This record gives sequence, C-alpha cells and structure tokens, in this order.
Amino acid sequence: MTIDIAPSPAPVRHPMLAQVVATRKLTPRLIRVTLTGSALDTFGYDGPDHLARVFLAPRADVELCLPASAERWWPAVQAMPDEVRPIVRNYTVRRLDGGRREMDIDFVLHAEAGPGSSWAATAAVGDQIGVLSDGAEYAPPADTDWQLLIGDETALPAIAAIVESLPADGHALVLLEVGDATDELDLAAPSGARITWLHRGATRAGHSDIVLRTLRETVFPVGAAYAFVAGESAMVTSVRRHLVGERGVAKQRVYFCGYWRAAAR
Ligand SMILES: Cc1cc2nc3c(=O)[nH]c(=O)nc-3n(C[C@H](O)[C@H](O)[C@H](O)COP(=O)(O)OP(=O)(O)OC[C@H]3O[C@@H](n4cnc5c(N)ncnc54)[C@H](O)[C@@H]3O)c2cc1C
Repeated sequence: MTIDIAPSPAPVRHPMLAQVVATRKLTPRLIRVTLTGSALDTFGYDGPDHLARVFLAPRADVELCLPASAERWWPAVQAMPDEVRPIVRNYTVRRLDGGRREMDIDFVLHAEAGPGSSWAATAAVGDQIGVLSDGAEYAPPADTDWQLLIGDETALPAIAAIVESLPADGHALVLLEVGDATDELDLAAPSGARITWLHRGATRAGHSDIVLRTLRETVFPVGAAYAFVAGESAMVTSVRRHLVGERGVAKQRVYFCGYWRAAAR
C-alpha cells in the first residue's frame, strides 16, 4: 500500500476514526497500540503530554459512533442513545507521525480492567477507535533551571516523551512509580536527567506512598524548578501540597493532574 506523504494540513481537531495497525507489549503491563487513520495528518501535536480523547464502541457488536465535531463533543456524546453511546477515556499521544498518518498510544493494563485497559489488552489489527485531539499542558517557563517529573505508569508515556524532548544540557529529577522492575523502560534521557524507578511491590496501584516518601528525602538542585506531576489523583495532590507547602515551589511552576482515581485509598 502506498501512502501519500504530503505536507501536514493545519490541525482541524475533530473526532476522527482510526484503526489498529500493530500492538506491542513494552512491559507485562504496558501495551503500545499503533493506529492509522486517513485524517491523522490533521490531528496536531502541541507537546509531549498531548491528550487524545479516545472513543470506544460500547460493545464489540456495535459500530463505533463519534460526535460530529469537537464543539460541544461531550454533550453530543451524552445525547446519544445508550446502545451506541461510545465510551470515552483519556490517553497521551506517545508518538504522532502526521506524514505517515500514524499514532502510538501506550495503554496501562491495570488490574481493575476498565474498558480502556480491556480494549487495549485484546486490540487486534483492524479494530476501530475514535480519537480527538485535545492539546498539551507541559509548559516549563523560560527561566527554568531544572525540572521535576513525577508520575506513575499512566504518566510514563508523557514523562518519557518529556525526557526525550529535554535539551542535551537539560537537568531533571525523574521519579516514576511502577509495580516492579519489569515495568521499567529505557528512557532516552540526557546525562543531566536522574531517573529513579520506585517499586510499590505488592501494594495495589494507587495505594502506595513511595513517591511522597522518596520526594521528602530528595535534595533539590539549586535554581528555579518546574514540576510536572501526573498519575493517581491522591498521589498527585499530596506531591503538589508538599512542593508548594513544604518546599516553597511557586504554585504556577507546578503542573499537576490526576490521571486516574483509585477506588478506595
Ligand atoms: C491527561 C491524561 C492522560 C492520560 N494518559 C494515559 C496514558 O497514556 N496511558 C494510560 O494507560 N493511561 C492514561 N491516562 C489514565 C487513564 O485515562 C485512566 O487510567 C483510565 O481510568 C483508564 O480507563 P479504563 O477504562 O481502563 O478504566 P476505568 O473504567 O476508568 O476504571 C475502572 C477501574 O480501574 C481503576 N483504574 C483506572 N486506571 C487505573 C490504573 N492505571 N491502575 C490501576 N487501576 C486503575 C479505577 O480506579 C476503577 O476502579 C491518562 C489520563 C489523563 C487525564
């Protein structure tokens, strides 16, 4: 099959259909799904934590139905009949190649198995999915001397892409919470990035305090920090509180986002 590689048109940001072209297990609990779609050259990419709203058919025997436009897409989804209303989840665009009309999304295969995780676990070539481009938030101020990047497996796609985007002389402390050593990935990091993998072991995801405990013991470099904190909601909130309340990091230099919420903590 030949693909017409033309200069990328301006992003249009409408919900678009895509199909699975490949899947690859990166770790036992992280699967990369490669998608292709005729409109992916217009998806747009604002930065390493670029958000894709992902639409899944409610059942395998139901055709995927997408809202017509990005304008008021959520009310449009809610107005659809129960039988066809798509399931919507949030995922990071790990890689976008507009020219090839291809996108990678890395899905965590988590133990509680929601629709997103279950879809990815069984995704096969040709399966359909909907994606809507929704921008990026990572934005270190120009005067940043060093970055603090903190997350769990759900933030690994964003943090891996951030680390890859750091300049060769960039400085970063990276704390990544995962289950165990089999969840670790090789990250393409500059020499000034110190990556620490934190294993929660037998503790359930979302129930460990290993990130906060490690952070409390971490000596910060001098200079202006910028923090990107994402992952389980309570972890993210506690980290942000520590940074602002106990370390004196200015609020506006801390981006934090709960990527998911543990059922009961
Ligand atoms: C901006 C943004 C970017 C994100 N990027 C990614 C990404 O690139 N890759 C990725 O895998 N996730 C990412 N997430 C997180 C993802 O949206 C959630 O984990 C989502 O809940 C998964 O949907 P689900 O259908 O599998 O489970 P849900 O139906 O939402 O939840 C079902 C059950 O599973 C539990 N659960 C949900 N997620 C997890 C988890 N990770 N570990 C353990 N238990 C869990 C819930 O507490 C609930 O009990 C991102 C979220 C945001 C907001």
